Amino acid sequence: MTAAGKATAVIAAAGSGERLGAGAPKALVEIAGRPILGWCLDAFADAHSVEAIVVAAPVAHEDAVEKLLPEGLAAEVVRGGPTRAESVQAAMAAVDGDVVAIHDAARPLVTAGLIDELVEALAARPEAAGVIAATPLTDTVKRAMEPRPADGPPSGGAAEVARTESRDHLWAAQTPQVFRADVLRAALAAGPDRIAAATDEATLVEEAGGTVLIHPSPAANLKVTTPHDLEVVGLLLAMRP
Ligand code: C5P
Repeated sequence: MTAAGKATAVIAAAGSGERLGAGAPKALVEIAGRPILGWCLDAFADAHSVEAIVVAAPVAHEDAVEKLLPEGLAAEVVRGGPTRAESVQAAMAAVDGDVVAIHDAARPLVTAGLIDELVEALAARPEAAGVIAATPLTDTVKRAMEPRPADGPPSGGAAEVARTESRDHLWAAQTPQVFRADVLRAALAAGPDRIAAATDEATLVEEAGGTVLIHPSPAANLKVTTPHDLEVVGLLLAMRP
């Protein structure tokens, strides 16, 4: 049982970080003097609304993750799975509370304030299944004729524009994403194909019929994917007071 207004944090930190090319799991790569995961854990430890933390760790790196856990808060490490959704599923098995805040370890600029706002926003809307951090899209959005390669722009050629999408209704989803734990567990029971296709938990909750609310968050809650992201996020973290 979660105390009123409290959540258990689930941090997905089990990715290999291949696109980062740092030779170590992304969550453990140092940025502005600390592992990326360490920055996330600081924010969750400082959030008033967080009463426990479960981290899905990269296989064979559970000990390194254990050493980063904050003191004074119930915190646990579980072994991550081969996909992000399976890592979240593994962590959910260790969650006791009825509200859960899912976060990608790849977003070390998350703040305690944003986490608390999201948990409060869900508590204020009993009819909602979840509340997600998201930022309005500011670029003009083009749909191409062909799907782009999984990782980045087409190599050696331009993709043809099929049409320009209106961005009036478009938001870029981030994490944290806060859900009622029973609803998320039911959504994570979707078939393996749907699980594999979902790039965030909100997708599965939406597909299961749950109402998901958008909570505007700063664009600066950036995700580290490429070496360029590592540089930018490192500069922003180093500038923090
Ligand atoms: O690879 P990508 O950056 O999209 O991953 C998003 C988040 O999901 C990262 O924080 C990563 O550590 C996590 N992840 C995971 N288990 C996996 C793959 C990714 O926890 N098998």
